Amino acid sequence: MCGITGILTPGRDAARLAYFGLYALQHRGQESAGIAAGDGGTIRSHKDMGLIGAIFDEESLAQLSGHIAVGHTRYSTTGSSIVVNAQPLLETTEIGDFAFAHNGNLTNTDELRERLSPSTTLQATSDSEVMAKAIVEAPGTMLDRIEHVLSIARGAYSIVLATKDELFAFRDPWGVRPLCIGAFEDGGFAVASESCALPTIGARYLREVEPGEIIRITPKGMESTVVVNESAFPALCMFEYIYFARPDSTLNGRSIYMARYAMGRELAKEHPVDADVVMAIPDSAVPGGIGYAAQSGLPYIEGLIKNRYIGRTFISPDQDLRARGVQLKFNPVVENLRGQRVVVVDDSIVRGTTTPRIVKLLREAGAREVHLRITSPPIKHPCYLGVDMATYDELIAANYSIEEIRVKAGADSLGYLSLEGLIAASGRKRNEMCLGCLTGEYPNVPAAHSARAMVG
Ligand code: AMP
Repeated sequence: MCGITGILTPGRDAARLAYFGLYALQHRGQESAGIAAGDGGTIRSHKDMGLIGAIFDEESLAQLSGHIAVGHTRYSTTGSSIVVNAQPLLETTEIGDFAFAHNGNLTNTDELRERLSPSTTLQATSDSEVMAKAIVEAPGTMLDRIEHVLSIARGAYSIVLATKDELFAFRDPWGVRPLCIGAFEDGGFAVASESCALPTIGARYLREVEPGEIIRITPKGMESTVVVNESAFPALCMFEYIYFARPDSTLNGRSIYMARYAMGRELAKEHPVDADVVMAIPDSAVPGGIGYAAQSGLPYIEGLIKNRYIGRTFISPDQDLRARGVQLKFNPVVENLRGQRVVVVDDSIVRGTTTPRIVKLLREAGAREVHLRITSPPIKHPCYLGVDMATYDELIAANYSIEEIRVKAGADSLGYLSLEGLIAASGRKRNEMCLGCLTGEYPNVPAAHSARAMVG
């Protein structure tokens, strides 16, 4: 996961814009967050565990003065959930300091770590720090260093990097995680993981950072350098379309809302059912639920109301509370459910923890039948490229048939969207996407990693 943003706006307070940009990207990670800012001299940073709103106040933002800033909100995949792993990372080189924020997962961290000088000490336990140190040790200008690292780092990385007077944004040659650029009316640029962050801070969407592209931004403007990697092919993460990205973001020209709506319509064509109403699990499945209702002609209802102030972070540490997670998060709208045959649309089943609890909650609220419809195919493989997705042992669809999952969920029927239906709805071509969690074929993961026998 992780959300990143970078701002360069001459004469304005970049940290404050980064703060609001991170607020729009909070869904990409709630574990820790930070902002580093520079005014042409020193780069200062403030970061901590927790949500953006709790980490920053007037005082901490006021200390981050300057026209350049990078920000990060973290959801850990590699590296523990501790504050030294919070980003941006601050590094020192002989050509000056830089701040670095990374979204994604590297798949050759060990190899990169071995290339580092023996005198380099690593403070954190994340792949991000290894990459930042590789930039520290590379020769030449900052652009040369980034070019070098792009040619040796494998995996998923969308990165923003600020020196005292430049902002860089770059993306791995496979383009696994998103990254886009916007412009401010009165000068300067913003970079963000998702386009939904741009209007929030008054920036106009310009375009994506292309796979393998390095964008260098200074007060004079923006320059692009593309690092050609013969073996790379486009492989944007399909899970961004299924679950991750906010519905008001646009990815590679396709609105996430419309993609999810189309997934719901496809699902209704593939798995129709005799029912009374359609509902979705809020929030991520709502466009899919509306799409299913539109295609099936059934009325769309709200069956569950989500408490938006309960986050995963708050639920997870306590076993007993975790078991109650679904009740803490959702309340049924009994009047909409009582006596009804309900189609319940969700975006994914991962470990299979949530679904049975939801079905139970709906039945207790009086639903007569519960028909589960999932706007993704079964998730059968782990993700090595930045999604916290569980291991083979934990993934329910890697271990049970669809009928067995239906029984475990306690549903009257269960239908998953086909891979073809999903690809059609995303508006992308099959060979442009990473479908690793659905097919087990990954764009740049060493074979030893992806072989089921090694992991299962
Ligand atoms: P599970 O209970 O493990 O089957 O998780 C499935 C539910 O979690 C679905 O309702 C999804 O909307 C949501 N979900 C899917 N992927 C993730 C993820 N990587 N992190 C957090 N929630 C997720």
